[in-house]
Amino acid sequence: MAKLLNGKETSEKMRSEMKVEVARLKEKYNLTPGLAVILVGDHPPSVSYVKSKEQACADIGVLSKKYKFAADYPQTDLLKLIDDLNRDPSVHGILVQVPLPGHVDEKKVLYAIDPAKDVDGFHPVNIGKMMIGGDCFLPCTPFGIQQLMLQNGIDVGGKHVVIVGRSNIVGKPLAMMLIQKKRGANATVTICHTGTKDLARHVGQADILVLAAGKPNTVTADMISDGAVVIIVGQNWIEDKTKKSGFRVIGDVDFEAASHKASAITPVLGGVGPMTITMLMHNTILSAKRHAGID
Ligand code: NAP
Repeated sequence: MAKLLNGKETSEKMRSEMKVEVARLKEKYNLTPGLAVILVGDHPPSVSYVKSKEQACADIGVLSKKYKFAADYPQTDLLKLIDDLNRDPSVHGILVQVPLPGHVDEKKVLYAIDPAKDVDGFHPVNIGKMMIGGDCFLPCTPFGIQQLMLQNGIDVGGKHVVIVGRSNIVGKPLAMMLIQKKRGANATVTICHTGTKDLARHVGQADILVLAAGKPNTVTADMISDGAVVIIVGQNWIEDKTKKSGFRVIGDVDFEAASHKASAITPVLGGVGPMTITMLMHNTILSAKRHAGID
């Protein structure tokens, strides 16, 4: 059976270290890292993500400012708020929860955030810097995947990483991060997508397989080579009348079956998810230190 890459445990360890660092910043520099979170509408997963982010801020000692608006909140008001937050010295990180309602130009809003406060790492300035290996805010989900492997002793250097999914928030940035000539990287990366011919052949060549398609059974266990590391990013809500909620969450591969082939695997829940929020906290603390000129 595969070793479980427990993102919840790894996160807890990292967050307890962050809590100590935040307390030190308060005591030594009178500095409290601040994160502004903007939520427009009531898309249930977004409401739940924002709640988890607020909880993480509270646990670590990061100041959390939440701005919650109805789904028809005008784009001009949203842009004005971001402009105000860009100038607010108590705010070191600004996060706009996506997806935004249809009347809002998501790119326009995300690109209005000062790159120096873009702790989600979605601004083109940060993405460009990440690509050339410069100092930037790394996008939280790929950063979390990289840290989860690093903290659990999985060296990606020289390995063949196959990523299924090429989105701007997971697949593409993860590939860019893992090909850097740096610690926790230096891998050979293949990205697969719906245009990929013979997905099974690519998947079978992976030392490390990252599944970020967001489709159940995109990959089946028989495609995975013996001893591969499997990182499940995709989460799919499936109707299940036996559950109290009426739903259960499954990954892009059957977890049980893949566990018998893999040497290490992330759970569908409690794997990549908590790491994403942990790296958001990391980026917010880093931003506060940068703004205050602290190393
Ligand atoms: P997305 O924007 O929909 O991108 C999905 C990608 O997967 C696309 O590149 C798509 O290819 C590819 N794909 C879909 N079906 C495929 C198939 N059958 N074969 C090969 N490639 C396929 O999704 P996303 O935003 O990256 O999210 C992906 C999943 O990760 C979702 O389930 C999401 O909930 C989850 N997620 C989890 C976290 C977390 O923190 N746990 C964070 C982010 C995302 P094309 O480009 O060709 O369409």
